[in-house]
Amino acid sequence: MTAEDVSLTGSCRCGATHIVLNAAPFMSSACHCTGCQKMSASAFSLTAMVPAAAFRVTAGEPVKGGIRGPQLDHYFCPDCKSWMFTRIEGMDFVNVRSAMLDDAQWTEPFIETMTAEKLPWAQTPARHSFPGFPAPEDYQRLMEAFATAR
Ligand SMILES: [Zn+2]
Ligand SMILES: [Zn+2]
Repeated sequence: MTAEDVSLTGSCRCGATHIVLNAAPFMSSACHCTGCQKMSASAFSLTAMVPAAAFRVTAGEPVKGGIRGPQLDHYFCPDCKSWMFTRIEGMDFVNVRSAMLDDAQWTEPFIETMTAEKLPWAQTPARHSFPGFPAPEDYQRLMEAFATAR
């Protein structure tokens, strides 16, 4: 499969907002921070990271909610308020909430972050755990490991 063939679709709870990823995610993760717990109404959030150029909203007009800048913006379906993706200031990737994707294979987290705040019972199959977030210099190694593992 060439990069041009990738078309991973997803949608919100009500179906009004649709997204498409035209590149395979380069990382999948779970975040255990208390902010993600509240916003996902669950134990952790799930993320598929994709280059910004490969991400498109194909239906609906997502609105900002959650934390609104200045460092990051959380985007929601305006109708059902599903938390769909996050853009981080200055970064050329988008953190897509994996639970929106139609293809469940991208929901398994390869890394987990912010385990310092995790609920005591919460467990994921992530292969690499971080009490905070990985250092920027660690990401290259993690991305290569993720690509090899798939
Ligand atoms: Zn919706
Ligand atoms: Zn988080």
